[in-house]
Amino acid sequence: MTNPQHLITRIGHWLLVFLPLLASCSLRGGLAAESTATPLPASPTSSATRPPAPSPTATLAQPTATPAPTSTLAPLFAPVDPTASPAGPPPAHFLLVGRPVPPHASLSVVASYRYGSTNERRYDTHHGVEFANPANTQLLAVAPGTVLWAGDDLAAAYGPSPNFYGFLVVLQLDETWQGHAVYALYGHMLAVAVAPGQAVETGDLVGYVGQSGVALGPHLHLEVRLDNPMDYDSTRNPELWLRPLPGTGLLAGRVLDSRGRPVRDARVNIACEDGKRRFADTYHDDTVTPDDVFQENFAIGDVPVGECELSVAFVGGTVKEPALVNEGELTLVEFIEP
Ligand SMILES: [Zn+2]
Repeated sequence: MTNPQHLITRIGHWLLVFLPLLASCSLRGGLAAESTATPLPASPTSSATRPPAPSPTATLAQPTATPAPTSTLAPLFAPVDPTASPAGPPPAHFLLVGRPVPPHASLSVVASYRYGSTNERRYDTHHGVEFANPANTQLLAVAPGTVLWAGDDLAAAYGPSPNFYGFLVVLQLDETWQGHAVYALYGHMLAVAVAPGQAVETGDLVGYVGQSGVALGPHLHLEVRLDNPMDYDSTRNPELWLRPLPGTGLLAGRVLDSRGRPVRDARVNIACEDGKRRFADTYHDDTVTPDDVFQENFAIGDVPVGECELSVAFVGGTVKEPALVNEGELTLVEFIEP
């Protein structure tokens, strides 16, 4: 950093890469305080902490969330009985069967600011994922559903403050997951193209990419919420719900310390057969919620099929884990601090 040229290059890189892309889902007052690491809960406690705001000008369809059943943590990471028959892939739930942008657009999420990350402490903990696309890019329904909300959030508090998402669309998916209502939220839109109560099929136009609300540049901010669509704390990692692109699968898992507690802000480096460098950072804090089943603290989608090697650098040394990515499937990996 003492080399001026390096500094200029670094600033230029930051401006080029981050400013145009990222939402300011993070400009609301600095980073959340680092919390003491505690074991991940066995079941979510997504309680509504904000009263639903009155509907302003449009009709707000009533959510039909059903009571959440008691979550059972499947022993996906438990030692495997070598005498047992192969268990098969974990039960992924790719309810978002379509991508939110057309095939010619940028279809994968921005790597530097995944769900639960802070982009190396530049922003607040991210409650969604970004799709970096130019303003006016079409936004499409990710699954069959009903439009719960389409409009601004000046009066309806979907985020931590009014006008956080600007123009947004919230879809309630037709399909539920283990009794949970599932919602997809599109934020920072230029304009909406649907109305509350409208039914949509996968791929239907719902609006256009913009930078309304608290956003630094045009992009789509996509969230998945369970049960309470108004609750900023009800999100889950969208990468766990997006059906992998053809020829790819999903990697997710946990990075734990030697006492079994989740490690915050750990970088998982991923080297696969295509030679491209990938990474995912573990969740920064408890403002984001692990999946009810997987209890992960990192996930990375659209990883090409084949053998990969994942590595995490702990204070006590680097741990490497192999992973086989299968098309359209989830592969879980666990790291434990040595
Ligand atoms: Zn965002």
